[in-house]
Amino acid sequence: MRAVVTGGAGFLGSHLCERLLAEGWDVLALDNLVTGVDSNIEHLMKHPKFRIARADVSNYIDVAGPVEYVLHFASPASPVDYLKLPIPTLKVGALGTHNALGLALAKNAKFFLASTSECYGDPEISPQHEEYWGHVNPVGPRGVYDEAKRYAEAMTMAYHRFHGVDTRIVRIFNTYGPRMRLNDGRALPNFVFQALSGKPLTIYGDGQQTRSFCYVSDLIEGIYRLMMSDEHLPVNIGNPQEITILEFAERIRKHFENAPPLVFEPLPQDDPKRRCPDITKAKRILKWEPKVGLEEGLNLTLAYFKQVFSKR
Ligand code: UDP
Repeated sequence: MRAVVTGGAGFLGSHLCERLLAEGWDVLALDNLVTGVDSNIEHLMKHPKFRIARADVSNYIDVAGPVEYVLHFASPASPVDYLKLPIPTLKVGALGTHNALGLALAKNAKFFLASTSECYGDPEISPQHEEYWGHVNPVGPRGVYDEAKRYAEAMTMAYHRFHGVDTRIVRIFNTYGPRMRLNDGRALPNFVFQALSGKPLTIYGDGQQTRSFCYVSDLIEGIYRLMMSDEHLPVNIGNPQEITILEFAERIRKHFENAPPLVFEPLPQDDPKRRCPDITKAKRILKWEPKVGLEEGLNLTLAYFKQVFSKR
């Protein structure tokens, strides 16, 4: 069994490749390394069933030989990254998804889309369940990511309904863990980098906005179960433990002696006020729920970040 993972050198893509190899799959990772990094997959390079090719999947994807599963994980995913790369973000969500679906259709393979809680935008309901259609500003700065992923979901369902491709869609909520980039601009790496550098931790707005952080091993377990299921409509995977950003920063500060203070900065436009997954569906159809609590996950992640920081 052979899987193609787009974005295979990224944070989630690399963890997914590792899991697929452990399950006995042959894995071909594709990445153009705009946000992915070689070091994420260095340890897999000697694995006899792993290969990586440098490719921008927004262009035609050429893969020789049989493929049983195409998993589309390529995309900038941090708000800072996709604001720097607005057009590549739109292209990989739109053209990249179309190309990856085309590859699945040509190879008679299953297809898996990494979608996002950003499909719900700045939600008017909380927690967010899969039937909620969302509240997205298409012309705001986050529109480049949100709308690309919404289009990707629509395209995936069209290939499923029109071409009969066997598809899955996961809506991924905030996830953290080793191999996040220390400079990717998201709350956790920012706070850790700031704490390690002795600089104040930047809270955007009043810090009362919430997020719900899922440890990466839990997320990958949910994704693998969804891959093996026969559910075609979107499924939320995330940890429903909701926390304000202010509280989250304080939790991180506690891990450092003489931690720097907090500093308040303006809230970016359209920053969602609440985000929390309703995981009733994942629990019911995948028998999945997260196992790693925030403290345990933070310990594992901080150990990784401290190591990366010391090698800089
Ligand atoms: N945030 C913050 N300080 C930072 C980085 C992010 O207060 O240095 C806030 C951001 O405004 C948002 C939340 O933390 O409300 C999560 O941001 P992140 O970039 O991690 O991802 P998002 O969930 O918005 O996609």
